[in-house]
Amino acid sequence: MNTFAFLAKSARHGPNTTALLQGDEVVTYREFHDRALAIGGNLLAAGCQPGDRVAFCLANSPRIMELIFGCFAAGLVVVPVNARLHAREMAYIVGNSGAKILVHGAEFQDGIQTNIELFSGVTRYCTDAVDGAVDFSALVSVEHALTAAVDASPEDICWLFYTSGTTGKPKGAIWNHRMVRCVIMNYLADLHNIQPGEVVLHCAPMSHGSGIVALPTVARGAVNAITETASFEIDSLLATVERLRVSHIAFMAPTQIVKLLEDFEPGKYDISSLHAICYGGAPIYVDQLKQAIQTFGPIFVQLYGQGEAPITITGMSGDRHRELLANNDPRIGSAGQTRTDVEAHCVDENDNPLPPGKAGEVVARGDVVMPGYWQNPEATAEALRGGWLHTGDIGYFDDQGYLFLLDRAKDMVISGGNNVYPREVEEVIILHQKVANCVVFGIPDEYWGEAVHAVVVLKTGETMTGREVIDFCGEHMAGYKKPKAVDFVSELPVSGYGKILRREVRDAYWVGHSSRIGGGSGTKVASS
Ligand code: AMP
Repeated sequence: MNTFAFLAKSARHGPNTTALLQGDEVVTYREFHDRALAIGGNLLAAGCQPGDRVAFCLANSPRIMELIFGCFAAGLVVVPVNARLHAREMAYIVGNSGAKILVHGAEFQDGIQTNIELFSGVTRYCTDAVDGAVDFSALVSVEHALTAAVDASPEDICWLFYTSGTTGKPKGAIWNHRMVRCVIMNYLADLHNIQPGEVVLHCAPMSHGSGIVALPTVARGAVNAITETASFEIDSLLATVERLRVSHIAFMAPTQIVKLLEDFEPGKYDISSLHAICYGGAPIYVDQLKQAIQTFGPIFVQLYGQGEAPITITGMSGDRHRELLANNDPRIGSAGQTRTDVEAHCVDENDNPLPPGKAGEVVARGDVVMPGYWQNPEATAEALRGGWLHTGDIGYFDDQGYLFLLDRAKDMVISGGNNVYPREVEEVIILHQKVANCVVFGIPDEYWGEAVHAVVVLKTGETMTGREVIDFCGEHMAGYKKPKAVDFVSELPVSGYGKILRREVRDAYWVGHSSRIGGGSGTKVASS
């Protein structure tokens, strides 16, 4: 069965129902279905063979969903590229995936032209008329439209999901039809059972988590609505929620939830229709999550997964958030429990399973786990050794199977022989009422090997000394975990997917030093 069948069924059940919505543009399920079949047929007519890769780099728009399902229909492999990447980074993914076709927005034309030698051999389609690219409208012409999707086996590759590449070049996690169907069914079964007619809003990049949540929405014949602005603006987001009676925000990174809390003006918009906001992709601090639930109600749904096991290894439904919060249960700070058809546990450095409460690397297996990385047998063998996906995340399961994530293995600080997990320290610093945000990491230290270091963003108008931060930590945690020093900055760097780039801040402190995990280059942030 081809995953396109999910769209075909929704188009049959509700041909005139709204499928995709952005601003004034409304695409019904019948139109979505027909446009996807046209795209599939035109891609084949343009010389693609089943199994060929088709990359896109587009700001959020209905075109993304049409392309994804168009590729499914024709047995092609879709390669979403984060629209916030530099043209050279885009070129790396296009080249590494061997994409024959790149579909991009006009805003990337200058960057592509400047680096045109990196795009040789790729046929480009653009959503506007630009030099060197075919107009997107050619892809939806009915001339070559397929009458139905090609057959696909569960193992056929349909998607390459490129990792963000924080530790080296991005790698393409291979997704096949079996995985994508599992993701769809599991989302509905374990996380949020989207109903026909629901309006699901996308305000995060659809090349990442938001685009994945769009798939169960299609399967249920619900509406995928897309915000109009490329930037994340709370006022326009909430105005859209009110106008469209949005019930579900597909995906938010924790940094977006923090911004939502900061900019929210109670009573300004009627957001009573909203009953689910999915979040994940990075840790959210417990204090911020509690504030979010207090402000918006128990509507938050947590996902923990990675490109190698999309959407979820563990998760926490909205109801579970409510129960845990009502009982003042510390498990509210966990990443929830293992999903129904996934196996997961933690292992030590020799891959031996660890008992509850013992921290080690999270490993998982099940049908949502990738079969490997695209043309990278070494990385595949390393990540999938013993038949388990090694996530690179350190955490522990408690006796009821709740997963507490501590950190990425590579972010752990070893100070004076003690392991310190930055997140633990950050969770404490963020509790201070003057603190807006922070990151903690290890910096070179002759005596300790690595010293715990904090970089803090204060709330507007607040002042604080490093000593105050350290003393505050001392009230909550063992002495060896306290930061040895603190710097203050006005903001922290954030990735295109809304993750705070702790590694980037850290690297500036390792210039000229060798590090366990490889230092970077840059200038040290201002101290105070
Ligand atoms: P990506 O492949 O870009 O989705 O990144 C996956 C990584 O993000 C995981 O390996 C975790 O380190 C982190 N992550 C994802 N979800 C969560 C979550 N709910 N809580 C904490 N970290 C998360």
